[in-house]
Amino acid sequence: MNTSILTNADLHCHSRVSDGTLTPEALATRAKTNGVQLWALTDHDEVGGQQRAIHAARALELPYLTGVEVSVSFAGRVVHIVGLGFDHHNTALVEGLRATRGGREQRAREMADGLAQVGIKGAYEGALKFVGNPELISRTHFARFLVEAGHCQDVPEVFRRFLTEGKPGYVEHKWARLSDALRWIHGAGGLAVIAHPARYGFNPTEEYALITEFMGHGGRGIEVVTGSHSDTEAAKYTETAIEFDLLASRGSDFHSPEESRTDLGRLADLSGRLQPIWMALEDRIIWPSCLH
Ligand code: AMP
Ligand code: MN
Ligand code: MN
Ligand code: MN
Repeated sequence: MNTSILTNADLHCHSRVSDGTLTPEALATRAKTNGVQLWALTDHDEVGGQQRAIHAARALELPYLTGVEVSVSFAGRVVHIVGLGFDHHNTALVEGLRATRGGREQRAREMADGLAQVGIKGAYEGALKFVGNPELISRTHFARFLVEAGHCQDVPEVFRRFLTEGKPGYVEHKWARLSDALRWIHGAGGLAVIAHPARYGFNPTEEYALITEFMGHGGRGIEVVTGSHSDTEAAKYTETAIEFDLLASRGSDFHSPEESRTDLGRLADLSGRLQPIWMALEDRIIWPSCLH
């Protein structure tokens, strides 16, 4: 297949390996059913689902790119960097991600202490039930526990009331450095993408600093069409991508059939004025054997 005619790429979603609710296999099936032509699983700070995603995609004849979403601390905020098309066995990448995850258990215990102070007991154990591995415990798992325990109606309400800056369950955390995240991704042969840029609440000066620093470390891509952007935000970042000569990415950020607004593969197309990032990743795509 010629990547220039490919439109339905979905290069951002999560499995149970991080804070999604579906297995890599179920996601692959859902992507195929929804007409995805090129797929990447991008779990937070972990590549443990990649081998399963590759196998599942191959069995469904679905072209695949390896993926990850790295949590980065930048200018006092958390920024997410998606890596695509890397060698998921690369030692520096695997070790760097392990170090990034390292603080999650301690942070989760402190989050639970904060929640206990407002009368919500057992949140650490409750959240852990949703993930199993304390290294991968995230705010999403706390949100699911608080909904299950009847404290809130849904996940967004938990974030609003308990899990964002200034709220009782929020604990500031030090994630990876931008330079390290890009070094790990590039060292493993992949390309880096600024995920959902509209979500950070940066003013134009801060955003300029993020983009120029990212590009200074060799970053090439930016998400334009994502389940985390409105149409207006996608239009804005279409112009940003053109202005900075960045490659454009597209991904649903799908986590769960019950929680996600945007399903896998159900996104607007990238503007024809953009350079899709997958055209620069042609030699990194894992094609099903029938397409070789
Ligand atoms: P963590 O990496 O533990 O800080 O958790 C971040 C995750 O929480 C993100 O990847 C999203 O899946 C989820 N999240 C962040 N903000 C919100 C929100 N306002 N509503 C719902 N989910 C959110
Ligand atoms: Mn998430
Ligand atoms: Mn994200
Ligand atoms: Mn994501």
